[in-house]
Amino acid sequence: MKTNPDVVIIGGGLAGLTSAIHLSKFGLRVVLIEKNEFPKHKVCGEYISNEVLPYFQWLGIEITDLKPSPISKIAFSTAKGKMISGNLPLGGFGISRYELDNYLYLKAINNGCQIIQDTVTDIQFIADEFRISTSNTLELKSKIVIGAFGKRSNIDQKLNRGFILKKSPWLAVKAHYSGDFPNELVGLHNFKGGYCGVSKVENNTINICYLVDYGTFKQYKNIEDFQSKVIYKNPHLKAIFENCELLFEKPLTISQISFEEKCTVENHILMIGDTAGLIHPLCGNGMAMAIHSAKMVSELIIDFLGNKISSRKELEEKYSQEWNATFKNRLVTGRYLSKILQNENLTSLLMQLLTIFPLLLPLIIKKTHGKSII
Ligand SMILES: Cc1cc2nc3c(=O)[nH]c(=O)nc-3n(C[C@H](O)[C@H](O)[C@H](O)COP(=O)(O)OP(=O)(O)OC[C@H]3O[C@@H](n4cnc5c(N)ncnc54)[C@H](O)[C@@H]3O)c2cc1C
Repeated sequence: MKTNPDVVIIGGGLAGLTSAIHLSKFGLRVVLIEKNEFPKHKVCGEYISNEVLPYFQWLGIEITDLKPSPISKIAFSTAKGKMISGNLPLGGFGISRYELDNYLYLKAINNGCQIIQDTVTDIQFIADEFRISTSNTLELKSKIVIGAFGKRSNIDQKLNRGFILKKSPWLAVKAHYSGDFPNELVGLHNFKGGYCGVSKVENNTINICYLVDYGTFKQYKNIEDFQSKVIYKNPHLKAIFENCELLFEKPLTISQISFEEKCTVENHILMIGDTAGLIHPLCGNGMAMAIHSAKMVSELIIDFLGNKISSRKELEEKYSQEWNATFKNRLVTGRYLSKILQNENLTSLLMQLLTIFPLLLPLIIKKTHGKSII
C-alpha cells in the first residue's frame, strides 16, 4: 500500500476482522495486523447468539456455507448434578473459531483489506496521527487505529492499562471431541471452581470448554487429574467426557483471563471486542458483542472520515457512550451470575428459584444478550 491506510486494525479475531469487512465495504483503505497465522484454533465455547445473523447477512457473510450447528436449547446443572433445561430465547449456532475466523479473514482479503502477519509492538499518537510499529520493523501511519487485540496483549502492557496490573485467577481449557451429544443443545455445567460449556460445532464435532479458577486447578497434577477428580463430580460432565474421544493432540489452555472493567478509548485508540471488555463466558455472548462493537465503531469511523462527526473528541465520546449504553449492563449481569455460581449455597438457591419459576431462565439469558444486530 503506497499511501497511508485510513484505518489500521490491531488484531484479527472476530472483532478486528468484522470491522475490516465493514470498513472495506465502504471503500476505506484498511490494514489489519494479526500476529498469528490463519486458520487457528482458539479457546472459546464456540456458541454464537443468533443476534449476529442480520448483520452478517448485510456484510455478505454466508454463515450457512460453514454448516454451523443450530442451537435452541440450554441445559444447566449444579456441581452436584441437579439439572434444569429450557429454550434459548433467540437461539444461536455452534461454529469453530478455526472455520469462522478463517472465513472472515478470506472475506476481508476479498473486500480489498491488506492483512499483515506481524506483531504490533508500539502505537504512538503524535500530531493527530498514529504511528504503528511492529516486530518485523514495519512502520505505518494512519488517522485511525482500532484496538482489537483481544483479552490480553503486549499492547495492554505498553498502554499500562489498569487491568493488566492485577493478577487474574481464571484459566480456560478447550478441545474438540467426537461422540454423542444432542445437536440443538448447549450444556452449561458447574463444578467446584468453575463451569463448563458443551455444544456442537460443524461436522458433528463437540466443543468442550471450561473456565476454572487457578487456585482450584493448581491442586491437581495435570488436566486429566483435575478433570477426573473435580469435573467428574458433576455426573453430567462425567458422562459427557467418558463418552467422547479427544480430537486434538492435547487441549488448548489460556490463563490470566480478566473480567475487569476496561476503557473503550485509550490514547485515542478505539477498542472493540474483548479489548474493550470481556463478558463472563457463561453468558455465551462475547462473540456477538465483539461483532456488534465492530459494527458500532465502523459506523462512527465512516461518519468521522466523511466529516459527519466534526472532531476526534466527538468520535471518541460517541463511541464510549454507545458502547456503555449497549454492553455495560450485560457485563455487570455476567459478573453477578459468575459470583453466584462460585458459591454453592447461592447456586442451589438459584436452582430452587428456577425450578419454581422456569420463566426466570429466559429472563436471565435476555439480560446478558442483546437484540438482533441490524
Ligand atoms: C473460556 C471462554 C469461553 C468462551 N465461550 C464463548 C461462547 O461460547 N460464546 C461467545 O459468544 N463468546 C465466548 N467467549 C468470548 C469470546 O471468545 C470472545 O469474546 C471473542 O473471542 C472476542 O473476539 P476478539 O476479536 O475481541 O478477540 P480475539 O478473538 O482474542 O482476537 C484478538 C486477536 O488479536 C491478536 N493480537 C493480540 N495482540 C496482538 C498484537 N500485538 N499484534 C497483532 N495481533 C495481536 C491475537 O492473536 C488475536 O487473534 C468465551 C471466552 C472464553 C475465555
